[in-house]
Amino acid sequence: MNYIYPANVCFECNNCGLCCGDTENKRRHILLLKSEVEEISIVTGQRIEEFTIDSVGTTPYVYEMKKLEGKCVFLRDNLCSIYAVRPLICQFYPFELKYEADRKIHVFSDTSECPMIGWGKKLTKENFEALYTLAQQRLL
Ligand code: SF4
Repeated sequence: MNYIYPANVCFECNNCGLCCGDTENKRRHILLLKSEVEEISIVTGQRIEEFTIDSVGTTPYVYEMKKLEGKCVFLRDNLCSIYAVRPLICQFYPFELKYEADRKIHVFSDTSECPMIGWGKKLTKENFEALYTLAQQRLL
């Protein structure tokens, strides 16, 4: 295993939609890979420029999702309308994976922003393994 993850963390999404848009304290950047944008375009029938803006200095993410009134353009009634092809960044929330070069290891961390951290099911090694595998598939 070349990553570490938080032990004994509970989380269960309650579909509040907070992670899909801006909050009082945070402007959300929903960053997208080229491959993700192409897939979303095919599935939705929308041209890439209809739902993205270019993102500079965020490699490997080269686009950012457009928002309407501060919310992702694909959020409908607080639910993701492109759930099956939602971006990596959305699949990871409320977790992040960062590489610590000095320790040569990837480290999962969670955001204190999400109100459902600490609630619901306890996440297992398999949950983090699935996220890690997904990141490898999309980013390599
Ligand atoms: S793509 Fe779906 S999960 Fe991601 S921000 Fe938009 S509505 Fe939310």
